[in-house]
Amino acid sequence: MSQSLSSNSHSGSIVAPVAIPVSALVPWAIFTILLSLLLLYFVGAEQGATSLISGHEVHEFVHDGRHLLGFPCH
Ligand SMILES: [Zn+2]
Repeated sequence: MSQSLSSNSHSGSIVAPVAIPVSALVPWAIFTILLSLLLLYFVGAEQGATSLISGHEVHEFVHDGRHLLGFPCH
C-alpha cells in the first residue's frame, strides 16, 4: 500500500507544487520583519525604556515575555 505523497488517493490525480517567485515573497518578508520588530519593541521596551502608550497595561501584559527574553525590566 505504498502511495506517493503528491498523489490524491480519492481522485487519482497528481498534485504538482506551485512555484512562488521570490519577488512575490519580498513584500510579505518585509511585512513580517516590520511586524516582528514592532512586536519586539512592545515586548522589550514599551512602557519601560520608552513609552508610546501611557499607563502600565502593556508592560504588565508582556512582562513575563520581557523577562523570558532577557530585556531589562526591574
Ligand atoms: Zn519585570
